[in-house]
Amino acid sequence: MEPESRFLKVACMKCKNEQIIFNKASNDVTCLVCGNLLAEATGGMSIIKSKILKVLS
Ligand SMILES: [Zn+2]
Repeated sequence: MEPESRFLKVACMKCKNEQIIFNKASNDVTCLVCGNLLAEATGGMSIIKSKILKVLS
């Protein structure tokens, strides 16, 4: 896995809401629509729990 920090466009697994998230967020990222967990904070790279649609630079 690439250790670089990136912004990712993801889709919520539950409601399909599309959201831009950071892959090194210091807090868990939840869906703004349904509250489902999109990415889990680890202190380093987040564990992505949603579908990655696009990697933004
Ligand atoms: Zn959702």
